Amino acid sequence: MSQIRQTHGRGWGILLGLLAFAGVLGCTTASAAGADKPNVIIFLVDDMGLMDTSVPFITDEKGQAKRYPLNDYYRTPSMERLAAQGARLSQFYAMSVCSPTRTSLLTGQNSARHHVTQWIRSENNNRGKFGPAEWNWVGKQDLNTNLPSLMRAGGYRTIFIGKAHFGPNGQPAEFPQNLGFDVNIAGCSWGQPGSYYGQSGYGHLKGNKNRAVPDLEKYHGTDTFLSEALTIEAKAQIDKAVADGKPFFLDMAHYAVHAPFDSDPRFADHYTDSGKPKGAQAFATLIEGMDKSLGDLMDHLESKGIAENTLILFLGDNGSDAPLGDEKGYSSSAPLRGKKGTCYEGGMRVGFIAAWAKPDPKNPFQKKLPINAGAINTQIGTVMDLYPTILNLADIKKPKSYAIDGYDLARQLVNEPNADREDRFMMHFPHDHRSSYWTSLRVGDWKIIYDYNPENPSKPGYELFNLKNDPFEKNDLAAREPGAVKRLMNEMIKQLDSEGAQYPVDMQGNELKPRVPQ
Ligand code: CA
Repeated sequence: MSQIRQTHGRGWGILLGLLAFAGVLGCTTASAAGADKPNVIIFLVDDMGLMDTSVPFITDEKGQAKRYPLNDYYRTPSMERLAAQGARLSQFYAMSVCSPTRTSLLTGQNSARHHVTQWIRSENNNRGKFGPAEWNWVGKQDLNTNLPSLMRAGGYRTIFIGKAHFGPNGQPAEFPQNLGFDVNIAGCSWGQPGSYYGQSGYGHLKGNKNRAVPDLEKYHGTDTFLSEALTIEAKAQIDKAVADGKPFFLDMAHYAVHAPFDSDPRFADHYTDSGKPKGAQAFATLIEGMDKSLGDLMDHLESKGIAENTLILFLGDNGSDAPLGDEKGYSSSAPLRGKKGTCYEGGMRVGFIAAWAKPDPKNPFQKKLPINAGAINTQIGTVMDLYPTILNLADIKKPKSYAIDGYDLARQLVNEPNADREDRFMMHFPHDHRSSYWTSLRVGDWKIIYDYNPENPSKPGYELFNLKNDPFEKNDLAAREPGAVKRLMNEMIKQLDSEGAQYPVDMQGNELKPRVPQ
């Protein structure tokens, strides 16, 4: 565009400026508005916890990466490549199940505020016996505020590939194209695939037909594994955006590594001598297939000459669900406690890497966000942060009078202190799962977990951990530190109120607000 401006003088410049402005407002005006924007890929892996990778995220007292046995079990060379050229966050939090995290990515809000507090069941309300009656079980659709709509209005081609799980059958949030995505391939209400195998038609021919993955008919009957098919489709969409001269925002949301744990035959040999159960071996093959997808996309961006202009944000959507045993003990997320769906760190800590697909200090987009290659930032980050981080990078204004609970991660990615935020994360879960009817709040080194106990609400539960001294939640200090319990409970109540949280109910249907112990 700048070249055209130079050759055609002032009148053309003004006209093109107006067209670019119209593009920002959401009118379709060719590619003019897009030329000055970096591409953004959210690479979201379903049910991938902090430890399901050969990249270590946990750090020692000095902030250095520390390996644990699970890091030596999994094989993720592409993640290693991404981490080497990007920045990791060692304390990154997601919600403990799918739909709340996915909605937080689109809205920048905590689940206590957006009210998608439980995973969405396609067919009916998954409230649970004591869940809040008015929770947002239909999902959230607000085209004025959600991330893909804003990106589209800002000149981006917005592409969704993979598992959506934003809303149930028959509701607007069922399909990503109703949420601001120009393109949707394979996304619908399903929280899992009917099958990962092309031979099974991803559930259409064999497997769970009630969760058959849409849109991939051309691979039915072939040996194309689901993660591979989605990668091929993503590459084709990237090519189209490039051909159209548009920057793209790609939500690459793998169905992997959610159950069913279908072993990927390309990688099965790597795990047969591991001594791990069959299911855990299959899980590792899903991880490796997802990792190949990441590497393939990085290679593709480079072959198209756009890797320098493309930011990749890699993360999991909740804690691990690796079939390695005990739900609330030390198994799939070891050394962290718990797994997906629990109130412990293993339920909500996930890996996060941000990297330019090809580092180049001279690139103008990278000058704006000069990610510190290989760095590990130990400040907290959350799934709510992607919203402001991406909008700021893309120079797109945030909506007015709209509450955003996340923080721009830019300072942390260049490994500077982010003075805007405190180390704080509240996770609100007024439903049934592995841990049921709870709110947890981390402030600094302390974490409290409140159990509403709806069947006997006069006896709520409190667990208190000091994550600095006890990062793996082995010593419950609630009985020994009553002052800390009271202080943190008051903080929790204040935050729940300020975010407009909905509460579980008792046997009579009365709302149960948290109680501060006497
Ligand atoms: Ca998930």
